[in-house]
Amino acid sequence: MMMNYPLTLAQILEHARHIHGSKRVTTLLPDQTFHSYTYTALYERVKRLANALTQSDVIQPGDRVGTYASNTYQHLELYYAIPGIGAVLHPLNVRLTAVQLARIVQEAGDKIIFVDGVYAEQFEALREKIGCEQVVHLNPSAMPPDVAYEHLLSEAEPAYSWDIPDENWAMGLCYTSGTQGEPRGVLYTHRSMFLHTLAVNQADVFGLTEADVVMPLVPMFHAMAWGLPYAAMFAGADIVLPGAKPLCLADLIAETGVTVAAGVPTIWAKVYPELSERRQDISTLRRLIVGGEAMPPTLIEAYEKNLGVEVCHAWGMTEMSPTGTFSKLREAHQNLSDAEKWRIKAKQGRPIPGVELRLAAETSNGFAKLPWNGEVVGELQVRSPWTASRYYNIQPTTEHFTPDGWLRTGDVATIDVEGYMQIVDRAKALIRSGGESISSVALETSLLKHPSVHEAAVIGVPDEKWGERPLAVVVLTPVDAVSNRTDTDLAITLKQHLVPEFPKFWIPDRFIVVDEIPKTSVGKFDKQALRKQLLSAETKEKLS
Ligand code: AMP
Repeated sequence: MMMNYPLTLAQILEHARHIHGSKRVTTLLPDQTFHSYTYTALYERVKRLANALTQSDVIQPGDRVGTYASNTYQHLELYYAIPGIGAVLHPLNVRLTAVQLARIVQEAGDKIIFVDGVYAEQFEALREKIGCEQVVHLNPSAMPPDVAYEHLLSEAEPAYSWDIPDENWAMGLCYTSGTQGEPRGVLYTHRSMFLHTLAVNQADVFGLTEADVVMPLVPMFHAMAWGLPYAAMFAGADIVLPGAKPLCLADLIAETGVTVAAGVPTIWAKVYPELSERRQDISTLRRLIVGGEAMPPTLIEAYEKNLGVEVCHAWGMTEMSPTGTFSKLREAHQNLSDAEKWRIKAKQGRPIPGVELRLAAETSNGFAKLPWNGEVVGELQVRSPWTASRYYNIQPTTEHFTPDGWLRTGDVATIDVEGYMQIVDRAKALIRSGGESISSVALETSLLKHPSVHEAAVIGVPDEKWGERPLAVVVLTPVDAVSNRTDTDLAITLKQHLVPEFPKFWIPDRFIVVDEIPKTSVGKFDKQALRKQLLSAETKEKLS
């Protein structure tokens, strides 16, 4: 071996401090004022924190350390200090219930949990059920026997030598959001996260530069904030952390000059009216990175055409650190019509360098590879140096991993000749009617194009004759919600809207209008909850 240099997160932090030491991390605090400091100041605090953790005697290399926190500079410090001492960063989803958290914390064996001031009360209510040896409060008002974070830092020595046994040492643990059953743990290594960072920082992927101001709106507990805390600092970009609940995103973008922001489509749908009124100058914003769920093409078009902001789909999974594909137009697409461009941009994108995709059909003796022609639908499988080959504490099963080393994503997709992948559905969400598949995603996308529809979710409901039939649940735009139109009129209108695009058996038999579609802890449509809600409403109706 001539070039045997370990790939660890310490290299990212050291590079950031040496080469981009004056770059800034700005956090929006709960009182809507800013905390702002340089990479150099962050680095010094990370080293103090590393010392404090090492000297606490509670944490040994390999131990898991939980965080229950929003997107702040302190959380960013923990993102570096915990892996830097050879321990494992375990960001906890603050939207989970006590029962879910208790299971996760106990399975992970978290030795300490760092708790954000904004969630302190919420945490206190769950604390007994969760059970954890030690709690450190990120706000200064910790009561004994808990420890206050700032006190810990002020007492600690400033010098520290990173203590990472090797690049294959675990650095982080994230649990899946549990939309498809119980949350499962995914362990990342220094090497896998380092390689993921290099991959997403390519020009045709996130393409971050030192001139950028990057704002992860995606919570830092969701799939390692899509790797942005590492990618942005490796690129030397300024970082804006929005805390728990920014009151006005448009103001935040205008005041801090954000150039690239990342979050789920629900956020972008909510913030669009705010941004398009544009009393604030948001001209710095050049790109949205959108993932977790498909962004409706109409919304992509609205951002690009009306606001001049490029929208790029990123598809991935907690299991994939999380990035797998990224959707940008190719040079060859520049002369296409706008409609053609939006059609391509609505796809989830091409595999980023290092990621291999496979479209597969299960056969009696394994999997058959399906063609990439944009039409054939198959099970999406993936492998890469940053994709998990098993779950934490669970023996790998063929339900999730193939014997030849691919992750079965649970997504059903097409891939075209240029390599653009498009999610058709989740395997379990695909509606089977009369033995044929119906894509809920395609129906939802089309419904969203109707001017009266603000949100749309299509689910399969049991049917005696066909096995399952599609049922559409829609939230109307505010103007339509108060109109006098009857539900029957609406159903007729929406059916007419769908008919030209889909086979007859795809058209939902029923349309239900609701005020709100339930969302999961990471802001995606929660179809399980929706199904339960509708079912209990129908049962009540039958009983009355
Ligand atoms: P999670 O691990 O919670 O991020 O969930 C991963 C799942 O979210 C994927 O398997 C997809 O079903 C879905 N997903 C992620 N990104 C996208 C995207 N850009 N478009 C559509 N679905 C997505």
